[in-house]
Amino acid sequence: DQARTPDYLSGLNPEQREAVETTEGPVLVLAGAGTGKTRVLTTRIAHILATGRAFPSQILAVTFTNKAAREMKERIGMLVGGAVEGMPWLGTFHSIGVKILRRHAELVGLRSDFTILDTDDVIRLIKQLIQAEGLDDKRWPARQFAAMIDTWKNKGLDPAQIPEGDARAFANGKGRELYTAYQNRLKTLNACDFGDLLLHPIRMFRANPDVLRDYHQRFKYILVDEYQDTNTAQYMWLRLLAQRSPPTSPQRGEGGAKAPGEGAAPTNLGGPSPSSGPSDHLLPAGEKGKPTVNICCVGDDDQSIYGWRGAEVDNILRFEKDFPGAKVIKLERNYRSTEHILGAAGHLIAHNEGRLGKTLFTDRAEPDDEKVIVHAAWDSEEEARAVGEEIERLQRGDADGKKHALNGMAILVRASFQMREFEDRFVTLGLNYRVVGGPRFYERLEIRDAMAYFRLVCQPADDLAFERIVNTPKRGLGDTTVRALHDYARARDIPMLAAAAEMVETDELKPKARKALFDVIQYFRRWSERLETTPHTELAEQILDESGYTDMWKNDKSAEAPGRLENLKELVRSMEAFESMRGFLEHVSLVMDVEQNEDMDAVSIMTLHSAKGLEFETVFLPGWEEGLFPHQRALDEGGRSGLEEERRLAYVGITRAKRRCHIWFVSNRRIHGLWQSTMPSRFLDELPQGHVEVAEAESSYGGYGRGGYGQSRFDRADPFANSYSTPGWKRAQQNKSDATRDNWGTRSGHAVERIGYGESGPRGRMIEGE
Ligand code: ATP
Ligand code: MG
Repeated sequence: DQARTPDYLSGLNPEQREAVETTEGPVLVLAGAGTGKTRVLTTRIAHILATGRAFPSQILAVTFTNKAAREMKERIGMLVGGAVEGMPWLGTFHSIGVKILRRHAELVGLRSDFTILDTDDVIRLIKQLIQAEGLDDKRWPARQFAAMIDTWKNKGLDPAQIPEGDARAFANGKGRELYTAYQNRLKTLNACDFGDLLLHPIRMFRANPDVLRDYHQRFKYILVDEYQDTNTAQYMWLRLLAQRSPPTSPQRGEGGAKAPGEGAAPTNLGGPSPSSGPSDHLLPAGEKGKPTVNICCVGDDDQSIYGWRGAEVDNILRFEKDFPGAKVIKLERNYRSTEHILGAAGHLIAHNEGRLGKTLFTDRAEPDDEKVIVHAAWDSEEEARAVGEEIERLQRGDADGKKHALNGMAILVRASFQMREFEDRFVTLGLNYRVVGGPRFYERLEIRDAMAYFRLVCQPADDLAFERIVNTPKRGLGDTTVRALHDYARARDIPMLAAAAEMVETDELKPKARKALFDVIQYFRRWSERLETTPHTELAEQILDESGYTDMWKNDKSAEAPGRLENLKELVRSMEAFESMRGFLEHVSLVMDVEQNEDMDAVSIMTLHSAKGLEFETVFLPGWEEGLFPHQRALDEGGRSGLEEERRLAYVGITRAKRRCHIWFVSNRRIHGLWQSTMPSRFLDELPQGHVEVAEAESSYGGYGRGGYGQSRFDRADPFANSYSTPGWKRAQQNKSDATRDNWGTRSGHAVERIGYGESGPRGRMIEGE
């Protein structure tokens, strides 16, 4: 029956094909950047569907971003000829988690219309709890505790499980109590935070084996992309869904959508019970070491870049122990990048010690391939200007006679503050750009206010939303009233909106506040009634108009007000794509990378972290300076691991490029309002001479452009002439730093602030170490 190879398989190399066709049992694809891991996953799903092994609804597929999920869905559709009627379980851990939780909310003490809180809501809530404990919230900042909770949740820890030291570290030893109080408060609010989207299902599965069994029967195939960046909670969640004990999996190989002639016998059941892996300590006794199902994880240990957020690269290194009998497939051919780009990235990442080490090769080498180009600029303004020029040059086709699309270009920054300069510059140039995964539309003040109204209409127990808008626009419902409402609600354990409805019947409030509150309640009653009858976009408009919110901005004389009104219009417009207000709200709370005008040709600006898995013809990597990249935080840590994660980030950055990779560093940078004289990143020293070239200073900036500065600084003929550890730009930079300071000071009009990590900083040590 193998007579004809389906089209979707024919382009694959033998290893990729093996990964696609080994549908039964655990499979790990461990391979470097651009080797087709994601393509394998996509094709694998297409193959499972095309051969009738499962229905779309029986496949659980986890991607790292919502955008990646959308793209995967599209490609599968293309591969199997549009026959995919939705893949309900293809998404991020969070989006799948929320879906599971909505179906079983009552099993963890929530109602199915629970609210998902964003970071700001969480911080407000924690602040209240800290104050309620009689603690000083300046000494014990809510933001800090929110981060602690996040860390615990990433590790899958309930209040009872957090380490004693952690519990003692915050709020005079009240860490554990506060965490407990926080969880209780969430329950009262019928709300959960992002961590709960995974932890609640884990709790729920453990407490309800029958529910878990239903999911075991449902999910015939499990697939995970970017497996190297799963955290412990995600890992526990996956293992719960992936393991099967033989007596409780009657559906395997029975019924379902089986292809004709397809063998029914599963390959991995009934095998010997494997010994416990080292990770089994995370699991309760009943969940240890059971046979597993058809799970396929793909990843690259060199691209593990979320350690700071709790990702455990060990998860991928442990796969064979966790899933006994796993087939491990390596892919070594890179289909994305030129030889120069791969050579540069490979040489750089070889400086990391803690890695498996992989072979990568490409036959995408052409004589006119560009090397990786390193550029220097005076400061970030010039950097943005020069990048803008380069982009326009490519766009016009000056470089090679070909006009290049902006869609094929990306600027990948280490820290989001770097974006502003590029945005400003591109606005000036009239160059289309989009910020991916950055300060988002939905995070704007007016949007968040409007959303609070919508949330409260859909979910009357949402006290945080209530507090946000009860006096926005101003209605004379100040702090005193809100506190009275708050106390009343707490005493009776009811939501604040309900408390308000009761309180207006009493004479506990001043007449003016009582009247104003009465109106608010009436409005919400009316809007809630219309929820089922009025089209949701119309209702949204009514809410914004009747509440006086739109008028508030119409009467506002500030320069931003018109823009805010436009944004509100846009918000209502953006709801059209959804079936209900609830669906929309859920979407907003999940979507981390909102893109506007996805159709336009535009340069992408994003952080290196959000560039994972993506590829572009041309990649610009600005800000390769000590203290920014590697980031100061990693340097301060002192250990190897932080620095190695930075290096992996650099590896991710370079390997996003298909054909052109431009790296930049500046001599002076303003960080947190202070000017700093900077040193080129050590990562520049770690690039191999053969694949890298140093750009001639191409500055258009008067003062120092072609004159002395640029030319003397870069010995274009042989920038690496001196030694491996002291390439041309560094010597020049060091020689130049004194000479240029005055010049610079006059030009900018700012005081120069030299910060410690210069000549004698960690860089010095690094050079010795090499
Ligand atoms: P990353 O580690 O960056 O996530 P990856 O291993 O997931 O990379 P893909 O994004 O799947 O790699 O593939 C990289 C590029 O190579 C894509 O453009 C993909 O279409 C292409 N590609 C993968 N396999 C093949 C193949 N067999 N033939 C032609 N092109 C391929
Ligand atoms: Mg990928």
